[in-house]
Amino acid sequence: MTAAQNASSTPRPVDEATLLASLPSGLFVGGEWRDASGGATFDVADPATGRTIATIADASPDDGITALDAAVDAAAEWAATAPRVRAEILRRAFDMLQERKLEIATLMTLEMGKPFAESLGEVAYGGEFLRWFSEEAVRITGRYGVNPEGTGRTIVSQHPVGPCYLITPWNFPLAMATRKIAPALAAGCTVVVKPAELTPLTTLFFAQLLTDAGLPAGVLNVVTTTHSGPVSKPIISDPRLRKLSFTGSTAVGKKLIAQAAENVLRTSMELGGNAPFVIFDDADLDKAVDGAMLAKFRNIGQACTAANRFIVQRGIADEFARRVTERVEQLRVGRGTDEGVTIGPLINESAVEKARTLTDDAVTRGAQVLTGGSAIDGDGTFFAPTVITEVPTGSDILREEIFGPVLAIIPFDDEEDAVRLANDTEYGLVAYVFTENLARGQRMIERLDTGMMGLNVGVVSNASAPFGGVKQSGIGREGGLEGIHEYLSTKYTMTPNP
Ligand code: NAD
Repeated sequence: MTAAQNASSTPRPVDEATLLASLPSGLFVGGEWRDASGGATFDVADPATGRTIATIADASPDDGITALDAAVDAAAEWAATAPRVRAEILRRAFDMLQERKLEIATLMTLEMGKPFAESLGEVAYGGEFLRWFSEEAVRITGRYGVNPEGTGRTIVSQHPVGPCYLITPWNFPLAMATRKIAPALAAGCTVVVKPAELTPLTTLFFAQLLTDAGLPAGVLNVVTTTHSGPVSKPIISDPRLRKLSFTGSTAVGKKLIAQAAENVLRTSMELGGNAPFVIFDDADLDKAVDGAMLAKFRNIGQACTAANRFIVQRGIADEFARRVTERVEQLRVGRGTDEGVTIGPLINESAVEKARTLTDDAVTRGAQVLTGGSAIDGDGTFFAPTVITEVPTGSDILREEIFGPVLAIIPFDDEEDAVRLANDTEYGLVAYVFTENLARGQRMIERLDTGMMGLNVGVVSNASAPFGGVKQSGIGREGGLEGIHEYLSTKYTMTPNP
Protein backbone atom coordinates (compact mmCIF):
# COMPACT_ATOMS: atom_id res chain seq x y z
CA MET A 1 0.00 0.00 0.00
CA THR A 2 1.36 3.43 -0.87
CA ALA A 3 1.61 6.18 1.73
CA ALA A 4 -1.16 8.11 -0.06
CA GLN A 5 -3.53 5.10 0.00
CA ASN A 6 -2.66 4.49 3.61
CA ALA A 7 -3.44 8.08 4.57
CA SER A 8 -6.75 8.07 2.74
CA SER A 9 -7.89 4.87 4.50
CA THR A 10 -7.37 6.37 7.97
CA PRO A 11 -10.81 7.43 9.21
CA ARG A 12 -11.05 11.18 9.69
CA PRO A 13 -13.67 13.38 11.38
CA VAL A 14 -16.55 14.69 9.24
CA ASP A 15 -17.10 18.38 8.55
CA GLU A 16 -17.94 20.01 11.90
CA ALA A 17 -20.20 22.79 10.65
CA THR A 18 -22.39 20.45 8.57
CA LEU A 19 -22.63 17.94 11.42
CA LEU A 20 -23.55 20.55 14.04
CA ALA A 21 -26.11 22.18 11.74
CA SER A 22 -27.88 18.82 11.29
CA LEU A 23 -28.27 18.12 15.02
CA PRO A 24 -31.57 18.29 16.90
CA SER A 25 -31.54 20.85 19.70
CA GLY A 26 -34.77 20.20 21.60
CA LEU A 27 -36.05 17.87 24.28
CA PHE A 28 -37.18 14.53 22.87
CA VAL A 29 -40.56 13.71 24.37
CA GLY A 30 -43.22 11.30 23.09
CA GLY A 31 -41.43 10.94 19.77
CA GLU A 32 -41.21 14.70 19.11
CA TRP A 33 -38.53 17.32 19.39
CA ARG A 34 -39.83 20.24 21.41
CA ASP A 35 -38.61 23.39 23.12
CA ALA A 36 -38.15 23.57 26.87
CA SER A 37 -40.95 25.40 28.68
CA GLY A 38 -40.36 29.15 28.42
CA GLY A 39 -37.91 28.49 25.57
CA ALA A 40 -34.93 28.17 27.94
CA THR A 41 -31.63 27.09 26.35
CA PHE A 42 -27.99 26.52 27.28
CA ASP A 43 -24.70 26.42 25.41
CA VAL A 44 -22.47 23.40 24.88
CA ALA A 45 -18.73 24.10 24.50
CA ASP A 46 -15.77 22.36 22.88
CA PRO A 47 -13.28 21.89 25.75
CA ALA A 48 -10.34 22.10 23.33
CA THR A 49 -11.18 25.67 22.36
CA GLY A 50 -13.76 26.88 24.86
CA ARG A 51 -15.99 27.85 21.91
CA THR A 52 -19.76 27.25 21.92
CA ILE A 53 -20.65 24.50 19.45
CA ALA A 54 -24.41 24.22 20.07
CA THR A 55 -27.29 25.80 21.96
CA ILE A 56 -29.93 23.36 23.16
CA ALA A 57 -33.10 23.15 25.26
CA ASP A 58 -32.72 23.56 29.03
CA ALA A 59 -35.48 21.50 30.66
CA SER A 60 -37.42 22.63 33.72
CA PRO A 61 -38.81 20.26 36.39
CA ASP A 62 -42.19 20.39 34.57
CA ASP A 63 -40.50 19.29 31.35
CA GLY A 64 -38.99 16.36 33.24
CA ILE A 65 -42.43 15.23 34.41
CA THR A 66 -43.82 15.62 30.88
CA ALA A 67 -41.08 13.27 29.68
CA LEU A 68 -41.99 10.79 32.42
CA ASP A 69 -45.67 11.06 31.37
CA ALA A 70 -44.64 10.01 27.85
CA ALA A 71 -42.61 7.06 29.16
CA VAL A 72 -45.53 5.96 31.35
CA ASP A 73 -48.01 6.25 28.46
CA ALA A 74 -45.83 4.08 26.21
CA ALA A 75 -44.96 1.48 28.88
CA ALA A 76 -47.74 -1.11 28.49
CA GLU A 77 -47.53 -1.32 24.72
CA TRP A 78 -43.75 -1.59 24.68
CA ALA A 79 -43.77 -4.26 27.39
CA ALA A 80 -46.23 -6.23 25.25
CA THR A 81 -44.19 -5.80 22.05
CA ALA A 82 -42.70 -9.10 20.89
CA PRO A 83 -39.12 -9.60 22.06
CA ARG A 84 -38.08 -10.27 18.46
CA VAL A 85 -39.44 -6.87 17.40
CA ARG A 86 -37.59 -5.14 20.25
CA ALA A 87 -34.44 -7.08 19.33
CA GLU A 88 -34.61 -6.09 15.68
CA ILE A 89 -34.96 -2.40 16.45
CA LEU A 90 -31.82 -2.59 18.60
CA ARG A 91 -29.98 -4.55 15.94
CA ARG A 92 -30.99 -2.03 13.27
CA ALA A 93 -29.73 0.77 15.53
CA PHE A 94 -26.42 -1.12 15.85
CA ASP A 95 -26.08 -1.31 12.06
CA MET A 96 -27.00 2.36 11.62
CA LEU A 97 -24.46 3.35 14.25
CA GLN A 98 -21.73 1.59 12.27
CA GLU A 99 -22.83 3.40 9.11
CA ARG A 100 -22.74 6.74 10.91
CA LYS A 101 -19.72 6.12 13.11
CA LEU A 102 -17.67 8.98 11.67
CA GLU A 103 -20.41 11.48 12.51
CA ILE A 104 -21.03 10.30 16.03
CA ALA A 105 -17.30 9.95 16.76
CA THR A 106 -16.72 13.50 15.52
CA LEU A 107 -19.52 14.73 17.74
CA MET A 108 -18.07 13.03 20.82
CA THR A 109 -14.65 14.50 20.17
CA LEU A 110 -16.17 17.95 19.73
CA GLU A 111 -18.20 17.99 22.91
CA MET A 112 -15.98 15.87 25.16
CA GLY A 113 -12.48 16.35 23.78
CA LYS A 114 -11.18 12.79 23.44
CA PRO A 115 -8.93 11.99 20.47
CA PHE A 116 -10.91 10.97 17.38
CA ALA A 117 -9.45 7.44 17.34
CA GLU A 118 -10.71 6.95 20.90
CA SER A 119 -14.15 8.24 19.93
CA LEU A 120 -14.23 5.61 17.19
CA GLY A 121 -13.25 3.06 19.85
CA GLU A 122 -16.18 4.23 21.95
CA VAL A 123 -18.56 3.82 19.00
CA ALA A 124 -17.36 0.21 18.70
CA TYR A 125 -17.69 -0.42 22.46
CA GLY A 126 -20.93 1.52 22.95
CA GLY A 127 -22.50 0.05 19.82
CA GLU A 128 -21.78 -3.45 21.04
CA PHE A 129 -24.36 -3.03 23.84
CA LEU A 130 -27.03 -2.62 21.15
CA ARG A 131 -25.97 -5.85 19.45
CA TRP A 132 -25.45 -7.76 22.72
CA PHE A 133 -28.82 -6.81 24.18
CA SER A 134 -30.63 -7.34 20.87
CA GLU A 135 -29.44 -10.92 21.31
CA GLU A 136 -30.49 -11.03 24.98
CA ALA A 137 -33.98 -9.61 24.34
CA VAL A 138 -35.15 -12.97 22.98
CA ARG A 139 -33.59 -15.02 25.80
CA ILE A 140 -35.57 -13.78 28.79
CA THR A 141 -36.71 -17.00 30.41
CA GLY A 142 -38.37 -18.33 33.57
CA ARG A 143 -38.69 -21.64 35.46
CA TYR A 144 -41.38 -24.21 36.07
CA GLY A 145 -40.92 -26.63 38.94
CA VAL A 146 -42.46 -29.01 41.44
CA ASN A 147 -42.20 -27.88 45.05
CA PRO A 148 -40.22 -30.19 47.37
CA GLU A 149 -43.41 -31.42 49.10
CA GLY A 150 -44.89 -32.41 45.74
CA THR A 151 -48.03 -30.46 46.55
CA GLY A 152 -47.79 -27.74 43.93
CA ARG A 153 -46.12 -26.27 40.89
CA THR A 154 -43.97 -23.16 41.02
CA ILE A 155 -43.73 -20.77 38.08
CA VAL A 156 -41.02 -18.10 38.01
CA SER A 157 -41.39 -15.41 35.34
CA GLN A 158 -39.54 -12.22 34.39
CA HIS A 159 -41.26 -8.91 33.67
CA PRO A 160 -40.07 -5.45 32.64
CA VAL A 161 -39.67 -3.30 35.77
CA GLY A 162 -41.52 -0.39 34.12
CA PRO A 163 -40.54 3.22 33.37
CA CYS A 164 -36.88 3.93 34.11
CA TYR A 165 -34.90 7.12 34.66
CA LEU A 166 -31.34 6.90 33.31
CA ILE A 167 -28.72 9.51 34.27
CA THR A 168 -25.40 9.44 32.42
CA PRO A 169 -22.00 11.17 32.86
CA TRP A 170 -19.95 13.18 30.36
CA ASN A 171 -16.85 10.99 30.06
CA PHE A 172 -18.25 8.29 27.70
CA PRO A 173 -21.25 10.09 26.18
CA LEU A 174 -22.32 7.20 23.94
CA ALA A 175 -21.28 4.04 25.79
CA MET A 176 -22.67 5.06 29.18
CA ALA A 177 -26.00 5.73 27.45
CA THR A 178 -26.18 2.53 25.37
CA ARG A 179 -25.07 0.43 28.37
CA LYS A 180 -28.34 1.48 30.07
CA ILE A 181 -30.70 2.14 27.15
CA ALA A 182 -30.08 -1.13 25.29
CA PRO A 183 -30.83 -3.50 28.21
CA ALA A 184 -33.79 -1.39 29.34
CA LEU A 185 -35.40 -1.44 25.88
CA ALA A 186 -34.52 -5.12 25.39
CA ALA A 187 -36.26 -5.94 28.69
CA GLY A 188 -39.40 -4.06 27.60
CA CYS A 189 -38.96 -0.91 29.70
CA THR A 190 -39.55 2.66 28.56
CA VAL A 191 -37.05 5.32 29.61
CA VAL A 192 -36.32 8.95 30.30
CA VAL A 193 -32.64 9.70 29.74
CA LYS A 194 -30.84 12.67 31.25
CA PRO A 195 -27.37 13.09 29.75
CA ALA A 196 -24.68 15.19 31.42
CA GLU A 197 -25.07 18.88 30.61
CA LEU A 198 -21.43 19.01 29.41
CA THR A 199 -21.97 16.39 26.67
CA PRO A 200 -25.65 16.16 25.74
CA LEU A 201 -25.29 16.23 21.94
CA THR A 202 -24.32 12.58 21.50
CA THR A 203 -27.53 11.47 23.24
CA LEU A 204 -29.62 13.75 21.03
CA PHE A 205 -27.99 12.26 17.93
CA PHE A 206 -28.54 8.75 19.29
CA ALA A 207 -32.23 9.41 20.13
CA GLN A 208 -32.85 10.40 16.50
CA LEU A 209 -30.93 7.33 15.31
CA LEU A 210 -33.05 4.99 17.48
CA THR A 211 -36.19 6.65 16.12
CA ASP A 212 -34.95 6.16 12.56
CA ALA A 213 -34.33 2.51 13.50
CA GLY A 214 -38.05 2.17 14.26
CA LEU A 215 -38.37 2.82 18.01
CA PRO A 216 -41.99 3.79 18.75
CA ALA A 217 -42.82 7.23 20.16
CA GLY A 218 -42.50 7.59 23.93
CA VAL A 219 -40.29 4.54 24.50
CA LEU A 220 -37.20 6.74 24.77
CA ASN A 221 -37.41 10.33 25.99
CA VAL A 222 -34.48 12.70 26.52
CA VAL A 223 -34.28 15.71 28.80
CA THR A 224 -31.25 17.96 28.63
CA THR A 225 -30.87 20.41 31.47
CA THR A 226 -28.49 22.50 33.52
CA HIS A 227 -30.78 21.93 36.55
CA SER A 228 -30.03 18.24 37.13
CA GLY A 229 -31.05 18.18 40.80
CA PRO A 230 -34.36 20.10 40.52
CA VAL A 231 -35.36 18.21 37.34
CA SER A 232 -34.43 14.76 38.70
CA LYS A 233 -35.95 14.96 42.16
CA PRO A 234 -39.64 15.09 41.10
CA ILE A 235 -39.05 12.27 38.61
CA ILE A 236 -37.39 10.10 41.29
CA SER A 237 -40.20 10.93 43.75
CA ASP A 238 -42.95 10.05 41.27
CA PRO A 239 -44.57 6.72 42.18
CA ARG A 240 -44.95 5.85 38.48
CA LEU A 241 -41.15 5.58 38.12
CA ARG A 242 -39.90 2.04 38.81
CA LYS A 243 -36.17 2.20 38.35
CA LEU A 244 -33.27 4.63 38.59
CA SER A 245 -29.99 3.86 36.90
CA PHE A 246 -27.16 6.31 37.48
CA THR A 247 -23.56 6.54 36.32
CA GLY A 248 -21.50 9.30 37.84
CA SER A 249 -19.69 10.37 40.97
CA THR A 250 -20.10 8.62 44.31
CA ALA A 251 -21.12 11.92 45.94
CA VAL A 252 -24.11 12.41 43.62
CA GLY A 253 -24.88 8.67 43.71
CA LYS A 254 -25.27 8.79 47.50
CA LYS A 255 -27.75 11.67 47.24
CA LEU A 256 -29.78 9.80 44.63
CA ILE A 257 -29.84 6.59 46.70
CA ALA A 258 -31.27 8.65 49.57
CA GLN A 259 -33.93 10.16 47.27
CA ALA A 260 -34.75 6.73 45.81
CA ALA A 261 -35.24 5.31 49.30
CA GLU A 262 -38.44 7.37 49.72
CA ASN A 263 -40.20 5.21 47.11
CA VAL A 264 -38.07 2.08 47.71
CA LEU A 265 -37.09 2.53 44.08
CA ARG A 266 -34.88 -0.06 42.43
CA THR A 267 -31.49 1.48 41.71
CA SER A 268 -28.35 0.67 39.79
CA MET A 269 -25.35 2.78 40.69
CA GLU A 270 -22.13 2.89 38.64
CA LEU A 271 -19.98 5.23 40.70
CA GLY A 272 -16.42 6.38 41.14
CA GLY A 273 -13.23 4.36 41.35
CA ASN A 274 -9.68 4.49 42.68
CA ALA A 275 -8.14 1.62 40.76
CA PRO A 276 -4.87 0.08 41.95
CA PHE A 277 -2.48 -1.08 39.21
CA VAL A 278 -0.19 -3.62 40.88
CA ILE A 279 3.02 -4.71 39.15
CA PHE A 280 4.98 -7.58 40.72
CA ASP A 281 8.66 -8.11 39.96
CA ASP A 282 7.78 -11.32 38.09
CA ALA A 283 5.64 -9.35 35.59
CA ASP A 284 6.39 -9.03 31.89
CA LEU A 285 7.41 -5.37 32.03
CA ASP A 286 6.66 -4.69 28.36
CA LYS A 287 3.08 -5.86 28.90
CA ALA A 288 2.85 -3.88 32.12
CA VAL A 289 3.97 -0.64 30.42
CA ASP A 290 1.51 -1.17 27.54
CA GLY A 291 -1.25 -1.90 30.06
CA ALA A 292 -0.33 1.15 32.12
CA MET A 293 -0.54 3.48 29.12
CA LEU A 294 -4.05 2.22 28.36
CA ALA A 295 -5.30 2.07 31.93
CA LYS A 296 -4.01 5.57 32.69
CA PHE A 297 -4.14 7.67 29.54
CA ARG A 298 -7.20 6.31 27.69
CA ASN A 299 -9.87 9.03 27.72
CA ILE A 300 -7.21 11.48 29.02
CA GLY A 301 -7.36 9.67 32.36
CA GLN A 302 -11.06 10.51 32.71
CA ALA A 303 -12.44 7.00 33.13
CA CYS A 304 -13.97 5.44 36.23
CA THR A 305 -11.71 2.48 35.40
CA ALA A 306 -8.59 4.68 35.10
CA ALA A 307 -5.64 3.35 37.11
CA ASN A 308 -5.25 5.80 39.97
CA ARG A 309 -2.39 4.25 41.96
CA PHE A 310 0.57 2.39 40.39
CA ILE A 311 1.70 0.05 43.13
CA VAL A 312 5.04 -1.30 41.88
CA GLN A 313 7.39 -3.79 43.54
CA ARG A 314 10.51 -1.95 44.68
CA GLY A 315 13.04 -3.95 42.62
CA ILE A 316 11.44 -2.89 39.31
CA ALA A 317 9.94 0.48 40.30
CA ASP A 318 12.76 2.59 38.80
CA GLU A 319 12.84 0.61 35.57
CA PHE A 320 9.03 0.83 35.21
CA ALA A 321 9.14 4.57 35.93
CA ARG A 322 11.87 5.10 33.33
CA ARG A 323 10.10 3.13 30.61
CA VAL A 324 6.67 4.58 31.23
CA THR A 325 8.06 8.13 31.32
CA GLU A 326 9.68 7.53 27.92
CA ARG A 327 6.29 6.50 26.54
CA VAL A 328 4.44 9.39 28.17
CA GLU A 329 6.87 11.87 26.62
CA GLN A 330 5.82 10.57 23.19
CA LEU A 331 2.13 11.40 23.75
CA ARG A 332 0.84 14.25 21.60
CA VAL A 333 -1.42 16.76 23.28
CA GLY A 334 -3.93 18.73 21.22
CA ARG A 335 -7.43 19.07 19.88
CA GLY A 336 -8.92 15.58 19.50
CA THR A 337 -9.98 16.17 15.89
CA ASP A 338 -6.37 16.88 14.80
CA GLU A 339 -4.48 13.99 13.25
CA GLY A 340 -1.97 12.22 15.49
CA VAL A 341 -3.27 13.70 18.76
CA THR A 342 -3.28 11.12 21.58
CA ILE A 343 -4.22 13.35 24.56
CA GLY A 344 -7.06 15.84 24.36
CA PRO A 345 -8.18 18.50 26.85
CA LEU A 346 -9.71 17.80 30.25
CA ILE A 347 -13.44 18.42 30.36
CA ASN A 348 -13.27 21.82 32.10
CA GLU A 349 -11.26 24.18 34.26
CA SER A 350 -12.20 22.48 37.52
CA ALA A 351 -10.84 19.16 36.19
CA VAL A 352 -7.53 20.92 35.47
CA GLU A 353 -7.60 22.44 38.94
CA LYS A 354 -8.12 19.02 40.50
CA ALA A 355 -5.21 17.43 38.59
CA ARG A 356 -3.03 20.39 39.60
CA THR A 357 -4.02 20.34 43.27
CA LEU A 358 -3.53 16.59 43.66
CA THR A 359 -0.14 16.67 41.91
CA ASP A 360 1.05 19.68 43.94
CA ASP A 361 -0.03 18.04 47.21
CA ALA A 362 1.95 14.86 46.42
CA VAL A 363 5.01 16.90 45.40
CA THR A 364 4.85 19.02 48.55
CA ARG A 365 4.88 15.80 50.57
CA GLY A 366 7.99 14.56 48.74
CA ALA A 367 6.95 12.90 45.45
CA GLN A 368 9.26 13.43 42.46
CA VAL A 369 8.00 14.65 39.08
CA LEU A 370 9.52 12.62 36.21
CA THR A 371 7.63 14.41 33.45
CA GLY A 372 4.81 16.97 33.11
CA GLY A 373 3.33 18.17 36.38
CA SER A 374 1.36 21.23 35.34
CA ALA A 375 -1.46 22.67 33.26
CA ILE A 376 -0.71 23.85 29.72
CA ASP A 377 -1.29 27.56 29.07
CA GLY A 378 -3.42 28.74 26.17
CA ASP A 379 -6.93 28.02 24.84
CA GLY A 380 -8.73 24.95 26.15
CA THR A 381 -8.32 23.02 29.36
CA PHE A 382 -5.15 20.97 28.93
CA PHE A 383 -2.97 19.28 31.55
CA ALA A 384 0.43 17.86 30.62
CA PRO A 385 0.69 14.05 30.77
CA THR A 386 2.51 13.49 34.04
CA VAL A 387 4.48 10.82 35.89
CA ILE A 388 5.27 11.20 39.59
CA THR A 389 7.04 8.63 41.72
CA GLU A 390 7.79 7.84 45.38
CA VAL A 391 4.35 9.20 46.26
CA PRO A 392 4.21 9.29 50.09
CA THR A 393 1.45 7.57 52.05
CA GLY A 394 -1.14 10.14 53.09
CA SER A 395 -1.04 12.03 49.78
CA ASP A 396 -4.51 13.08 48.59
CA ILE A 397 -3.81 11.58 45.16
CA LEU A 398 -3.89 8.08 46.68
CA ARG A 399 -7.37 8.64 48.13
CA GLU A 400 -9.14 10.69 45.48
CA GLU A 401 -10.10 9.88 41.91
CA ILE A 402 -7.59 11.92 39.83
CA PHE A 403 -9.63 11.93 36.60
CA GLY A 404 -6.70 13.31 34.66
CA PRO A 405 -3.44 12.24 32.94
CA VAL A 406 -1.31 11.87 36.10
CA LEU A 407 0.43 8.55 36.73
CA ALA A 408 1.41 8.16 40.40
CA ILE A 409 3.86 5.44 41.49
CA ILE A 410 4.09 3.96 44.99
CA PRO A 411 6.73 1.28 45.59
CA PHE A 412 5.92 -1.82 47.71
CA ASP A 413 7.98 -4.61 49.26
CA ASP A 414 6.03 -7.88 49.30
CA GLU A 415 2.67 -9.42 48.38
CA GLU A 416 1.06 -8.64 51.75
CA ASP A 417 2.09 -5.02 51.37
CA ALA A 418 0.64 -4.91 47.82
CA VAL A 419 -2.73 -6.32 48.91
CA ARG A 420 -2.93 -3.92 51.86
CA LEU A 421 -2.13 -0.88 49.68
CA ALA A 422 -4.47 -1.97 46.86
CA ASN A 423 -7.42 -2.48 49.23
CA ASP A 424 -6.77 0.72 51.17
CA THR A 425 -9.66 2.69 49.62
CA GLU A 426 -13.41 3.03 50.06
CA TYR A 427 -13.80 2.28 46.32
CA GLY A 428 -13.77 -1.13 44.62
CA LEU A 429 -14.51 -0.80 40.92
CA VAL A 430 -11.53 -2.35 39.17
CA ALA A 431 -7.99 -3.52 39.98
CA TYR A 432 -5.18 -4.32 37.56
CA VAL A 433 -2.53 -6.91 38.39
CA PHE A 434 0.56 -7.77 36.38
CA THR A 435 2.35 -11.01 37.25
CA GLU A 436 3.54 -14.03 35.27
CA ASN A 437 2.99 -16.23 38.34
CA LEU A 438 -0.36 -17.98 37.89
CA ALA A 439 -0.83 -18.88 41.57
CA ARG A 440 -0.12 -15.29 42.58
CA GLY A 441 -2.62 -14.05 39.99
CA GLN A 442 -5.24 -16.39 41.43
CA ARG A 443 -4.49 -15.20 44.97
CA MET A 444 -5.01 -11.62 43.82
CA ILE A 445 -8.42 -12.51 42.31
CA GLU A 446 -9.43 -13.81 45.74
CA ARG A 447 -7.85 -11.10 47.89
CA LEU A 448 -8.54 -7.81 46.12
CA ASP A 449 -11.81 -6.07 47.05
CA THR A 450 -13.01 -5.23 43.58
CA GLY A 451 -15.92 -5.75 41.20
CA MET A 452 -13.60 -6.25 38.22
CA MET A 453 -10.01 -7.20 37.63
CA GLY A 454 -7.61 -6.90 34.71
CA LEU A 455 -5.02 -9.67 35.01
CA ASN A 456 -2.16 -8.73 32.68
CA VAL A 457 -4.44 -6.39 30.70
CA GLY A 458 -5.04 -2.65 30.96
CA VAL A 459 -8.70 -2.50 29.79
CA VAL A 460 -11.56 -4.60 31.17
CA SER A 461 -14.65 -3.06 29.53
CA ASN A 462 -16.57 -5.48 27.32
CA ALA A 463 -20.27 -5.68 26.48
CA SER A 464 -20.38 -9.40 27.30
CA ALA A 465 -19.04 -8.89 30.84
CA PRO A 466 -20.79 -7.70 34.01
CA PHE A 467 -19.37 -4.22 34.63
CA GLY A 468 -19.68 -2.80 38.14
CA GLY A 469 -18.15 -2.26 41.53
CA VAL A 470 -18.20 -3.18 45.20
CA LYS A 471 -17.95 -0.88 48.25
CA GLN A 472 -18.60 2.78 47.34
CA SER A 473 -18.12 2.08 43.62
CA GLY A 474 -21.71 1.04 43.24
CA ILE A 475 -24.61 -1.35 43.19
CA GLY A 476 -25.56 -3.60 40.27
CA ARG A 477 -23.96 -4.63 36.99
CA GLU A 478 -24.16 -3.38 33.42
CA GLY A 479 -23.50 -5.60 30.41
CA GLY A 480 -23.13 -9.37 30.30
CA LEU A 481 -25.90 -11.80 31.16
CA GLU A 482 -26.51 -9.76 34.30
CA GLY A 483 -27.17 -6.45 32.52
CA ILE A 484 -30.73 -7.16 31.43
CA HIS A 485 -31.74 -8.40 34.89
CA GLU A 486 -31.30 -4.86 36.22
CA TYR A 487 -34.43 -4.05 34.18
CA LEU A 488 -36.48 -7.16 34.95
CA SER A 489 -38.40 -8.06 38.05
CA THR A 490 -38.93 -11.65 39.09
CA LYS A 491 -42.47 -12.84 39.77
CA TYR A 492 -43.19 -16.18 41.40
CA THR A 493 -46.55 -17.91 41.15
CA MET A 494 -47.64 -20.95 43.18
CA THR A 495 -50.20 -23.22 41.53
CA PRO A 496 -51.80 -26.46 42.68
CA ASN A 497 -50.92 -29.74 41.05
CA PRO A 498 -52.66 -30.05 37.68
P1 NAD B 1 -21.47 13.62 38.25
O1 NAD B 1 -21.88 12.78 39.40
O2 NAD B 1 -21.12 15.03 38.49
O3 NAD B 1 -22.63 13.66 37.16
C1 NAD B 1 -23.18 12.50 36.61
C2 NAD B 1 -24.57 12.82 36.11
O4 NAD B 1 -25.39 13.17 37.22
C3 NAD B 1 -24.66 13.99 35.14
O5 NAD B 1 -25.66 13.73 34.19
C4 NAD B 1 -25.07 15.15 36.04
O6 NAD B 1 -25.76 16.15 35.35
C5 NAD B 1 -26.01 14.42 36.98
N1 NAD B 1 -26.23 15.05 38.27
C6 NAD B 1 -25.39 15.84 38.99
N2 NAD B 1 -25.99 16.21 40.15
C7 NAD B 1 -27.21 15.63 40.15
C8 NAD B 1 -28.31 15.62 41.08
N3 NAD B 1 -28.26 16.29 42.23
N4 NAD B 1 -29.42 14.91 40.76
C9 NAD B 1 -29.48 14.23 39.60
N5 NAD B 1 -28.49 14.20 38.69
C10 NAD B 1 -27.36 14.89 38.96
O7 NAD B 1 -20.32 12.83 37.52
P2 NAD B 1 -19.52 13.25 36.21
O8 NAD B 1 -18.54 14.28 36.59
O9 NAD B 1 -20.45 13.53 35.07
O10 NAD B 1 -18.80 11.88 35.85
C11 NAD B 1 -17.61 11.49 36.42
C12 NAD B 1 -17.85 10.49 37.52
O11 NAD B 1 -18.58 9.37 36.99
C13 NAD B 1 -16.58 9.90 38.07
O12 NAD B 1 -16.67 9.79 39.46
C14 NAD B 1 -16.52 8.52 37.42
O13 NAD B 1 -15.76 7.58 38.14
C15 NAD B 1 -17.95 8.15 37.37
N6 NAD B 1 -18.17 7.13 36.36
C16 NAD B 1 -18.46 5.87 36.78
C17 NAD B 1 -18.63 4.87 35.84
C18 NAD B 1 -18.95 3.48 36.27
O14 NAD B 1 -19.39 2.71 35.43
N7 NAD B 1 -18.75 3.09 37.52
C19 NAD B 1 -18.51 5.15 34.48
C20 NAD B 1 -18.21 6.46 34.09
C21 NAD B 1 -18.05 7.45 35.04
